[in-house]
Amino acid sequence: MDVDTIVIGGGVVGLAVARACARSGRQVLIVERHAQIGEETSARNSEVIHTGIYYPKDSLKAQLCVRGAEALYRYCANHGVPHQRIGKLIVASQNSQREALQVLQKKAETNGVQGLRLIERDELNAMEPALAGVVALYSPNTGIIDSHQLMLSLLGEAESAGADLVLSANVQAASVIRGGFDVTVDGDTVSSAELINCAGLSAQQVAHGIEGLPAHTIPPQYLSRGCYFSLGGKNPFSRLIYPLPNDEGLGVHLTLDLAGQARFGPDTEWVYRLDYRVDPKRAAQFYAAIKAYYPALEKDRLQPSYSGIRPKVVGPGDAAGDFIIQGRQTHGVPGLVNLYGIESPGLTASLAVGDYVLDLLARGRS
Ligand SMILES: Cc1cc2nc3c(=O)[nH]c(=O)nc-3n(C[C@H](O)[C@H](O)[C@H](O)COP(=O)(O)OP(=O)(O)OC[C@H]3O[C@@H](n4cnc5c(N)ncnc54)[C@H](O)[C@@H]3O)c2cc1C
Repeated sequence: MDVDTIVIGGGVVGLAVARACARSGRQVLIVERHAQIGEETSARNSEVIHTGIYYPKDSLKAQLCVRGAEALYRYCANHGVPHQRIGKLIVASQNSQREALQVLQKKAETNGVQGLRLIERDELNAMEPALAGVVALYSPNTGIIDSHQLMLSLLGEAESAGADLVLSANVQAASVIRGGFDVTVDGDTVSSAELINCAGLSAQQVAHGIEGLPAHTIPPQYLSRGCYFSLGGKNPFSRLIYPLPNDEGLGVHLTLDLAGQARFGPDTEWVYRLDYRVDPKRAAQFYAAIKAYYPALEKDRLQPSYSGIRPKVVGPGDAAGDFIIQGRQTHGVPGLVNLYGIESPGLTASLAVGDYVLDLLARGRS
């Protein structure tokens, strides 16, 4: 074998998995098709450290988000990755929504989220004078992070433990051989004992190219684009502001970057190809949604910004899907782990995903 482990994809999850594998003593090769790490979904998200409020009990999203957030805060503190525990408010604009907030609080607490409390109107006004709401659920442990610095740090740690990164290198196919895999990278073959597919939006495509992997284990893929509009001029908020979630997602919310710049989004729109353009006409829908909690907003302050595309495993009208992380136990191929549907909270969960993959590999040996 040329190396112990090949990790396909140099996004935040691939890098966290590579770091975990390298630190366990494996010789790791990370293969990334772009000229830089983290150019796809890991560069097109809200950079929020989530706490695990919304996910169904015992789901992988809930478990890995709660564990991942704790690990991430520790990691950032120990490695100097810029971040801020800024806090988040989920706001009810009518008293009739109070019960929905209480239900959300209970669900979150069942998932192990700590420090949540309901905030009444007077306290809310004092915390965020520009915010209109009658009651809110406050999550003090929600934070923001510089995801590029995180990725550089994870890569540095992986490399210090002996991992190699090859850029501008496309994995075209792989086949299961005795004791491992032959992986075709831009026409050359590299062999490894383990293969970890962290290809994000291309995970299903990569999996279909693995000869020897039962195709029925590969879930379908759907794409949901989320667009952002930035807020021109002075930002009046100092915390992240979310409406109550709806059937399609978290609702158009306000997040801040570490420089204090505000942006709204992401919204949700099913798409059929990777097209990251933001249609300025979507500003009308954003404006209508945001006015419910930020009535003083002037429409011309909304400026089209960027978008990201969620790799989803369920389609329109279905209940929200979970992360799907399959090892030998699911597909029968020793040494292979496929990660599908790693949408939000994948950034938050990345370190916990690394440990989870290591555990799957260990269990797959017996
Ligand atoms: C709009 C939006 C907002 C989000 N907000 C948050 C948030 O606030 N907090 C949070 O925790 N999570 C958030 N997420 C989720 C988070 O961004 C992702 O879960 C995370 O970035 C996924 O990382 P990844 O490494 O799996 O995928 P990616 O970052 O997509 O990396 C996959 C990599 O694989 C490479 N690749 C693909 N195919 C091949 C191949 N054949 N050969 C070689 N390389 C290949 C790609 O080039 C890419 O670099 C958000 C996602 C979206 C879309």
